[in-house]
Amino acid sequence: MNKNSSNIMALAPKASNKRETVCIFGTGDFGRALGHKLIQSGYPIVFGSRSTQLSSLIPKGAEVLSHAEAAQKAAIIIIAMQRQHYDFLTPLEEILRGKVLVDVSNNLKINQYPESNAKYLAQLVPSTRVVKAFNTVSAWALQSGTLDASRQVFVCGDDMEAKQMVMDIVRAVGLTPLDQGSLSAAQEIENYPLQLFPMWKFPIFLSLGLTAFFFFYCLIRDIIYPYVYENKDYSFFLAISIPNRICPVVALILLALVYLPGVLAAIIQLYRGTKYSRFPDWLDKWMLCRKQLGLIALAFAFLHVFYTLVIPIRYYVRWRNEDGIITQALNNKTNPFSNTYGWLSDSYLALGILGFFLFVLLGITSLPSVSNNVNWREFRFVQSKLGYLTLILCTAHTLVYGGNRFLSPSSYRWYLPDAYILSLIVPCIVLVVKFVLISPYLDRQLTRIRQGWERNPQYSE
Ligand code: NAP
Repeated sequence: MNKNSSNIMALAPKASNKRETVCIFGTGDFGRALGHKLIQSGYPIVFGSRSTQLSSLIPKGAEVLSHAEAAQKAAIIIIAMQRQHYDFLTPLEEILRGKVLVDVSNNLKINQYPESNAKYLAQLVPSTRVVKAFNTVSAWALQSGTLDASRQVFVCGDDMEAKQMVMDIVRAVGLTPLDQGSLSAAQEIENYPLQLFPMWKFPIFLSLGLTAFFFFYCLIRDIIYPYVYENKDYSFFLAISIPNRICPVVALILLALVYLPGVLAAIIQLYRGTKYSRFPDWLDKWMLCRKQLGLIALAFAFLHVFYTLVIPIRYYVRWRNEDGIITQALNNKTNPFSNTYGWLSDSYLALGILGFFLFVLLGITSLPSVSNNVNWREFRFVQSKLGYLTLILCTAHTLVYGGNRFLSPSSYRWYLPDAYILSLIVPCIVLVVKFVLISPYLDRQLTRIRQGWERNPQYSE
């Protein structure tokens, strides 16, 4: 079957020419925008309002009546008003009996009320069938037709038939309904639009923390130390040299941190001998934000590439090269060509180029438009196998960069090694542990555990 056929079906309106009238309570921004969209989709619309006067803002073709009159004309009523005004519905209970009420409301704060707005509505008018929907779509997006960013509409409710009727409307306006279950899910759905990049917080704070740490580390080693001991002012390193030290270091550590939780999870499963026990919360949260960690790592890698590309045009570099040539000429001495350095320099660059290429490939495959078009096995192959290969290449790039200076005592300043040496700690740990985990004995154990075999059933929950 065509992979996209389910989406096409999800977007296809119900094959019927006659649309049922939909009532909207409230002629505010959202009520009008949704009314406009529904009229375009062929639904007769009647607004229930405190003022029955037709204003120029009301979508053409819609009627505006009192709440009681409007409610009598439709089986579905969309409540497009704030929760604090819901109590005016109680006196209308008899007219609303058995009707489907669609709660579209949002709050100003996460978990603002003890119960969700939809639950509150259901308690106020218990003889109705309440469905939560549309709250994640903005009035502006409905009005302007720019619904590409979020076509998904989360729908929940206790009455299956009512939910189905609302989902048909969602499809008819070109959106995709996602059934989230019973009305108990409403609180979570109401919290969605209030969350600020929930998956990005930890990766962003972590990368800022690492950047700050390595900034001060490099400042001490590369600017303050030469100033104190050699009386040399290298403060201009702050513009390019130090950022170009921080970016690859942070990129490599973050990339390793994408794979570290997987390795830890495998160790926990091996130790517990079962997959039926929950991971600690911190590990669960860490695993959920691996994609964001990887994308931030990629951003740092991009910056490293840009900073590296400008190296030949830097005044300091040009001056140092010219100075080297003049010194050789004055001393009538040429530096012999070193094949070892040739190899080190070329392999360091080649490993960096290949590592960066695979890193970009990983980033591209994590985009929803691409990942939706590969199957689970293909996705895992790219993210896991190619991911580890990227980590190996980037770690090797850093190791070879050190070349014969690597761990040399003369490169320490105030007992501090070069920043790139610190950046190798986490990737090397991840790679060594992964290497141990793929040994045939442990790999077999892990595969059996992941297929449901239990060595220690006492750990399963
Ligand atoms: P709005 O522009 O302030 O409109 C609210 C409407 O509620 C008013 O136009 C009014 O309609 C009615 N109303 C106000 N006080 C009332 C009262 N005391 N009794 C009865 N009706 C009253 O708000 P909105 O932006 O359209 O938002 C409406 C609902 O949609 C809210 O719950 C909001 O959280 C939700 N929502 C909005 C958006 C958005 O982008 N705006 C997106 C998703 C969800 P009448 O004058 O016709 O009576």
